[in-house]
Amino acid sequence: MLNKVIHPHSFNFDYPVSQIVDTFSKGIDKGWMSKRAAMFDDVKTDLKPEKGKTLVHLISTGSGETYGSNNNADYFNKCAYEWEFPHPERGMTKKAMLDGGLEKYHNTFMKRGYVYKHHENNKDPKFASGMIKCEAYNPKMERGELIVALDNDKWTDELEKMSKEEPVYWSIGCCVPTDGCSVCGHRRKTKSESCSHVRDNLLQMTKEGHQVFALNDTPLFHDISGVFRPADKIAFALRTLDKAASEKTVVSSIDLAEAEGFYLPTSYTDRYVLGRSFDRLTTLKKLASMEEEIEKATDESPIGMMKEAFCIGSGFDEIDPRTITKLAMNIEDSLGGMSKASVALPPETFFKVALGNRYGEVEAHMPSVRTKMPVLFREILASSDLDEFITDGTYDGKPCLLRNIKEEISKLAESHSLAPEAVRRRLTMSSLNGTGPRPSGAPLQKTASGKADILAREYGKYLLSFVKDKGEDIQKLSCVMKVS
Ligand SMILES: [Zn+2]
Repeated sequence: MLNKVIHPHSFNFDYPVSQIVDTFSKGIDKGWMSKRAAMFDDVKTDLKPEKGKTLVHLISTGSGETYGSNNNADYFNKCAYEWEFPHPERGMTKKAMLDGGLEKYHNTFMKRGYVYKHHENNKDPKFASGMIKCEAYNPKMERGELIVALDNDKWTDELEKMSKEEPVYWSIGCCVPTDGCSVCGHRRKTKSESCSHVRDNLLQMTKEGHQVFALNDTPLFHDISGVFRPADKIAFALRTLDKAASEKTVVSSIDLAEAEGFYLPTSYTDRYVLGRSFDRLTTLKKLASMEEEIEKATDESPIGMMKEAFCIGSGFDEIDPRTITKLAMNIEDSLGGMSKASVALPPETFFKVALGNRYGEVEAHMPSVRTKMPVLFREILASSDLDEFITDGTYDGKPCLLRNIKEEISKLAESHSLAPEAVRRRLTMSSLNGTGPRPSGAPLQKTASGKADILAREYGKYLLSFVKDKGEDIQKLSCVMKVS
C-alpha cells in the first residue's frame, strides 16, 4: 500500500480550487450552482445551510487524460481502459487494462468523509472541522469535485480568503494498493519496489517523448485537509508571541511546532517533495562551521573576496518589485524553482516573497533580524529546540513546473544566483563599481527582539531547505547572509 498526499492546486486548473457556495437562508443559489458545480444538480435541494457552517465547492483531482499528471508526477485516469506502455518491462505485455480510476473510486471520499485543518490529524474524526457532503466525478470538466461543510469558527481566515477569491490550499490523503509506471508498466506496492523510471526520472521525457509518471488507477481517498502556507505560518508564529506576551507566558518554538501542525513536517516534504530524505543535521553543522570561517576570514582571503560578489555595487539583490509579487503568488513553486536554479534570497527579499502583501507586518524587525545573522546557525545548533528546526520543511518548496514562475526566476540568475559564472560576473561588477555595505534602513528596534528571533529562525529554515543538494554553495550562502 502506498500513501500519497495530493495537492489539488498541483493540477494547474484554470479555476480557484475552492469557492464558497452561494446560499440564501432557504437554500442554495441555483444560478451559482449550475455555473460552478453543475454536477450536483440532483442534490442541491438537500443541501441546506447549517448554522455555524459554510458550504464550499472544491475541485479535488483532474483526470490525467485532460490535465496530465500533477506536479508531483501522479496521474489519475478517468476510467478503465487499455494503457499502452512504450517500454514494457520484461514479462509485461505491451498493453494492460487500468482499473476504473476517478469514475470508479472518487466516491471513496465518502467512506470517511471528514475535512481536517491539518493533514497531521487526519486519522481521528474528533479533530475534524468539516464534513464532506457530496462528491462527484464531473465528466464534462474531467475532474473530481466535492461539496464540503466547514465549521465557521475553525476556518475564519480561509473563508475570508475564499470570499475575496484568494487561493486557499488543500491537501488530499490518498492511498493506492499499487501504482504503475507509465513507461514500463512496473507495479509497486512500496516505494522500495520502484522501477528506475519512477525512482530517478519522474516527470522527465523518454527519448520518444513519453513522460514518466505514476498511474494511480485505484485511488482510495480518505480525507481532505487545509494546508498552511509560509505566510500563514510566519504570521501565526508572531501572533502566538503576542499572545504569550499579553498572558505573560513564555512560548518556545517547540510550542509553536506543537500548535497543531503549523508547519510542514520534513517527514512529509522529504517524501513527497524531494522524493528522498535529506540529512538536515549534517548540513546545519556545515553551515554553523562556515559561520566561524567567515568570522575569521580576512578581506584578502578567498572567502573575503567572495563576499564582494554579494556587496552593493555587485548587482546582488537588485530585484524588480513586480518579480517579487509574481513569485509570492505561487510560493511553493517559487521556492522549489529558486532552489533548483541556485537563486538565493537575502532576508528582506525572502520575507517579501514569503509574506507577499503582508511584508509590512515584519518590515520594522528586519534590521534586528540582520544582527542575528552572524551567529544564527551556531545558536540554533546549541538551542534546546533544535528538533523543531530540523523537522520543519515549510520552505522546501516543490518542483516548479509553472512557466511564468520559471521565467521570473530566470530573470534573477544574474542578480541572485550562486552559480560560479554569475558570482564571477558580480565580482567583476563590484571591482568596477566599488563596494560598500548596504544601508541599514530603519533604526534598530530593541523591543522587538522576540519577533526578530522568530523571523531569523524562519529565515534559517529557508536557507537549510535551499541548500539541500548543493553542499559546495554553503560558503557562498553564508556570504548572502553576512554581507548583503
Ligand atoms: Zn518503469
